[in-house]
Amino acid sequence: MLEFDHLRVEINGRPILRDVTLSVAAGEAVGLVGESGSGKSMTVKSVLRLLPPGARATGTVRFGDTDVHTLDGAGLRRMRSQDVAMVFQDPRATVNPVRTIGDFLTEVLRDQGVSRSDARTRAAGLLADVGVDHVARRLRQRPHELSGGLLQRVVIAAALATSPKLILADEPTTALDVTTQEEVVAILNERRREHGSALLFISHDLELAAAVCDRIAVMYAGEIVEILPADRLHEDARHPYTQALLRSRPGTVAPGERLATVPGSPQSAFDAPAGCVFADRCPQAAGLCRDVRPALLPIDSGLAACHLLPRETPSVA
Ligand code: SF4
Ligand code: MG
Repeated sequence: MLEFDHLRVEINGRPILRDVTLSVAAGEAVGLVGESGSGKSMTVKSVLRLLPPGARATGTVRFGDTDVHTLDGAGLRRMRSQDVAMVFQDPRATVNPVRTIGDFLTEVLRDQGVSRSDARTRAAGLLADVGVDHVARRLRQRPHELSGGLLQRVVIAAALATSPKLILADEPTTALDVTTQEEVVAILNERRREHGSALLFISHDLELAAAVCDRIAVMYAGEIVEILPADRLHEDARHPYTQALLRSRPGTVAPGERLATVPGSPQSAFDAPAGCVFADRCPQAAGLCRDVRPALLPIDSGLAACHLLPRETPSVA
């Protein structure tokens, strides 16, 4: 349903995404995981053509049968208002601070063609669905009167109002404390399953992504270095970077923020080595690694890009 095919994004000539090939099937949840600056947000933004000024994208992003790069203004608006919903890290950036929660949700529903008289009732139902209590009071409140966790539930309720085919969630719970994080993610996942919506879930927290998603794609310096089924993460992770993420102990950086630490500093996409993007930090790097770029190839239950991995010779059936 969503397909990135050799997507490359440059900003003023400097690559941010080097080569992203990834698909999300209808109803599937895919986690896009990596340290900050690895290109996760840019990948998500490219779906709705929300790239910053000066950005140039090559390769394709397909949503259903549509090449997103060829959509006109009306097509893009339709996609943004009906087919694809976004949930960002900071719910306060999504909700108008001076309007009530009721007005915010009512407006979303009115945009979907719901009548004025039905919209208020539907808004209450949406809030109840995402586990918000005291619904009548909440509808009258303004964003600053709600905690971050509650407000993120409101944003999720709004995202689900359109029963979107796809939800793009960019670190939706990073700003919340760990317990609230887990509750909010569980609600998002439960409800989107009921609606049949697919999910592209961005996180720097590998374990959290694995708990939510069907498949995990690990990103490093603007490239995807490994893709594997979430339930095989611990058994089948083969890329040295994924293994380093798994070994690293999450340290508490800010309230609720679990940040895995891998020795060395993250590589930026624009001055990555010609060969493997992880070469500067990889404990197993060999001569070939700096010069020859490893391709993302099948291994065990997934795909990984590393020269050290044994490759099966394709058998002729
Ligand atoms: Fe490490 Fe080389 Fe594999 Fe890259 S290709 S991950 S540098 S061993
Ligand atoms: Mg980001």
